[in-house]
Amino acid sequence: MTTSTDPVTIFESLESEVRSYSRSWPVTFDTAVGSHMTDIDGRTYLDFFAGAGALNYGHNNPKLKGALIEYLQRDGVVHGLDMQTAAKAEFLRTFSEIILKPRNLNYKVQFPGPTGTNSVESALKLARKVTGKEAMINFTNAFHGMTLGSLSVTGNSMKRGGAGIPLVHATPMPYDNYFDGKVPDFLWFERVLEDAGSSLNEPAAVIVETVQGEGGINPARIEWLQGLAELCKRHEILLIVDDVQMGCGRTGPFFSFEAAGIQPDIVCISKSISGYGLPMALTLIKPELDVWGPGEHNGTFRGNNPAFVTATETLRSYWTDDTLERSTVAKGLRIEEKLNELAGSLPGGLEVKGRGLARGLGFAEPELAGKTAGAAFDRGLLLETAGPDSEVAKLMPALTITDDELEEGLGIFADAVRSVVR
Ligand SMILES: *Cc1c(COP(=O)(O)O)cnc(C)c1O
Repeated sequence: MTTSTDPVTIFESLESEVRSYSRSWPVTFDTAVGSHMTDIDGRTYLDFFAGAGALNYGHNNPKLKGALIEYLQRDGVVHGLDMQTAAKAEFLRTFSEIILKPRNLNYKVQFPGPTGTNSVESALKLARKVTGKEAMINFTNAFHGMTLGSLSVTGNSMKRGGAGIPLVHATPMPYDNYFDGKVPDFLWFERVLEDAGSSLNEPAAVIVETVQGEGGINPARIEWLQGLAELCKRHEILLIVDDVQMGCGRTGPFFSFEAAGIQPDIVCISKSISGYGLPMALTLIKPELDVWGPGEHNGTFRGNNPAFVTATETLRSYWTDDTLERSTVAKGLRIEEKLNELAGSLPGGLEVKGRGLARGLGFAEPELAGKTAGAAFDRGLLLETAGPDSEVAKLMPALTITDDELEEGLGIFADAVRSVVR
């Protein structure tokens, strides 16, 4: 048995150097319930990380666990490629009834493979097939995943470098507020689209996050998203919203783009769609764009039936009314208030960022964000950093966190910040 006091752990001796989160939190976790994780020495941590957005409903949520155990007990199909199963039928019906129809959204549902990057890859492929064009437009500081297509539209230079080959066919445009509000929205984008001499390759699609998670908790303004959707329509460019992290209620509504009243052509969903932290992803496609040939995008793990079961239960438990949405917005505003109070009480250079329950505190001295996360860990709180220089402390609790847990975590966070900012 490995204990956290061993001089060299099995992780250090055997697991690849690529591991990352385990370096920030060098303990061995064993059990987890709701907003708490417990390590093998019995120490409990409050979780403001929530599986990077894959655990919006907390760890081992009892409602979902019940449905999962019952399904396994009755020998429900676990692995099914893209075979028709009762669990998949139930998910599709429930998703249509509870999520799509009430929002007047008309999408076909593709199961692109189990991860977020599978969804992004399928979206890029489909956009190219539909339009016959190769070029993509992405945004500064975007994050879309680690496979080559997704990396080609991702901003972070360290992550891009990992590709080892040129990443091509994507042109970056400034995300909202990239020039601190000093440049009119889409000035450059519109100009190069309209100028026959700009050398811009005609784009198949634009891929965008409504709030950039990994990029530093940067929310695009509602007007900016509306402007982007309108620009795409005018220039006949498909609009892909990557809602892998900000979807499933992270910003309040089920889809993060609902507030803008836009209807993207393709939507990427993953992280919290299973509700239980099980791998699952969806690519939502406007019906007229569903030009896939059978098996043209394939994959062994597109039919993770236990994930369909917990996903169905999640929709029934949390999305039949607006209780969760309202509580997410309220809790998010409480974090904002607390962060503003904190920033106001300390020397300058702290930036309060975010929307819904995706919140961040940006530091003018980037290393202070990592130090804050370290000081929070020492005090029993898990949170990660985001942004190109890891300059943002990211507060992303489960949507189901209780008010008491939220206050406790905010108190620890404030102590942690005060311990590093002097
Ligand atoms: C996490 C994430 C992805 C990639 O998902 P994986 O499951 O890690 O492949 C893509 N887009 C966004 C916005 C993400 O946050």
